[in-house]
Amino acid sequence: MNVLKNYINGTWQQSGATESLNVVNPANQNVLAKVPFGPETMKDVQSAVQSAQSAYLEWRNVPVMKRVQVLYHLKSLLEKNKEELARIITQESGKTKGESFGEIQRAIENVEVACGTPMLMAGDVIEDIATGIDEMMVRQPLGVTACITPFNFPSMIVFWFLPYAIATGNAFIVKPSEKVPLTMVKLFELFHELDLPKGLLSMVHGGKDTVDALLDHEQIKAISFVGSTPVARYIYARGTANGKRVQAQGGAKNPIVILPDADIEMSTKIIADSVYGCAGQRCLAASTVITVNDGKGEVKDALYESVKSRTTGYGWDNGTDMGPVITPESKKRIEGLIQKGLDEGANLLIDGRNAKVSGYEKGNFIAPTILENVATDRELIRTEIFGPVMSLLAMQTVDEALSFVNSGNYGNMACLFTGSGASARRFRNEADAGNIGINIGVAAPMAQFPFSGWKDSFFGDLHGQGKHAIEFFTQTKVIIERWPNIWSRKF
Ligand code: NAD
Repeated sequence: MNVLKNYINGTWQQSGATESLNVVNPANQNVLAKVPFGPETMKDVQSAVQSAQSAYLEWRNVPVMKRVQVLYHLKSLLEKNKEELARIITQESGKTKGESFGEIQRAIENVEVACGTPMLMAGDVIEDIATGIDEMMVRQPLGVTACITPFNFPSMIVFWFLPYAIATGNAFIVKPSEKVPLTMVKLFELFHELDLPKGLLSMVHGGKDTVDALLDHEQIKAISFVGSTPVARYIYARGTANGKRVQAQGGAKNPIVILPDADIEMSTKIIADSVYGCAGQRCLAASTVITVNDGKGEVKDALYESVKSRTTGYGWDNGTDMGPVITPESKKRIEGLIQKGLDEGANLLIDGRNAKVSGYEKGNFIAPTILENVATDRELIRTEIFGPVMSLLAMQTVDEALSFVNSGNYGNMACLFTGSGASARRFRNEADAGNIGINIGVAAPMAQFPFSGWKDSFFGDLHGQGKHAIEFFTQTKVIIERWPNIWSRKF
C-alpha cells in the first residue's frame, strides 16, 4: 500500500519519512492507506515553509478582490465534490452520512464568510488628527501560517482558518490528523485546481515531530490548533515562547441543564442528539445532563426513551443514528471510564458497552450509554469522555445547577433548556463558558461568529471563524502622515 504524499510547492511529493502509520476504517479495521510519521517528517516541514515563504511574497501583493475570487471557485469545487468528500469522511472517521454532509456544509459557510474579506480587513483613517496630519491603520498579512487539526472533523476545522488566512494574504500549511488524513488529501486535490501561487497552500503529514518542526520554524508566524487540552496547552506554550501568534482550541466537558418548565419532548430529543451525535466525539457534545427538580422523573424517563431507540451501525448505511468511535484504544478508554463511573458509585441506566453490529463485528462500536448519579466529587465528572456517554445528575435548584456548571475546568459550551426568559437571561449571563445554548443542544457558532471556547478549552486571544480569524491572520500597522501644503508656495 502506498504511503500518502505531502503537497508541497504545488506538487505531490513523497515524504522523507521511513516510518508510517496505518489509516484505518473504524467500522471494520480495514487499512485505507499509510501516512508518513516520525522525526524525518521534520525535513518535509522545512521544504514546505521554503516554498510557502516565496508564495507569500507574491500573494500578499495580489489585490484582495482578486484573492477572494479563489474562494468563490473553492466554494463551487466543494459543492461539486460534497458526496465524495462525505464518503471519505465516513470511511475514515466513522461518522454518519448526515454528519459528514453537515460538516462540509459548515466548511463551505466559512468560505462564504471569508469572501467578505475585502470589507472585513478594511482599516481606519482619521483625517486631520492633528493640524495637517492624517492617521490611518491598515491590516497586513503575517506571512507563513500553519494549522494542526484533530481527527473528529476531518474537513470542517481547517476551514475555521484557511479561507481567512489566504484571503488576508498569508501562506498556509496544514498538518492533518494522522488518523484521518484522506479527507485532507481530497481537499488538497481540489485546492490544486485553484489559481494560487505554488506553495501558498501546503500539506505535511505526520504527528508530534511534524508539529514540533512547525512550532520551532522561525518563518512560521502563526499557529492555529484544534485538539485535546494537554496538547493545546503545549502548543500554546511552545509556539508563543518562539514568538508566534497562537490560537489553540482544546477539549471540553459540556453541561446541559434542563428546568421543569422546558418543553420536555423537544428538549430530550435535542439533548440526546447533542450527547450521541458523532458518537459523542464532538467538542460541543453534551456530556453531563443536569435535571432540576425532576421529582417524578419525567425528564429522566423521556431521556431514556429518546436514547433507547437510537441505532448504532455503519455510518453510510441509511437509518444509522450513530457510528463507531475512532480507534480500538478509544473504545477501550471509554469503556474503562464507564467502569470508573460505576466504581465511583454511579448506576448504569443504559449500558452500551460491547455493542455488536452485524457485518461490522470488528468495528469500534459503543452504543448510547447513560450513567446515573455520577459522583460530583470524583474524577469522572471532570474528565472528557469523548464518547457516547451521558452522565445524568439530579439537582434541586437552578443555583445548585449553575454552580456545578461553573465548577468545571473546561468552558467550551453550556446549555439551558427552559420556558422562562428570566432563567435563560440569568444563565447566559452567569454561565462560565464561551458558547451558550438556550434550548439548543450544540451551540456551534456559525461562520460569522468566533468559536469561543473559554478556560481550559482555549488558549489564546482570537478564536477561529469570522472577524476573529481576520484579526488573527493580520497585523495592524498605523501610519501617521504630514504633507506640508506646497500648493500655497510660489514656484
Ligand atoms: P489530539 O490532541 O490528540 O490531536 C490533535 C492534533 O495534534 C493531531 O494533528 C495530532 O497529530 C497532534 N498531536 C497529538 N499529540 C501531540 C503532541 N504530543 N505534540 C504535538 N502534537 C500532537 O486530539 P484528537 O484526539 O485528534 O481530537 C480530539 C480532541 O480535540 C478532543 O479533546 C476534542 O474535545 C478536541 N476538539 C476541540 C475542538 C474545539 O473547538 N475546542 C474541536 C474539535 C475537537
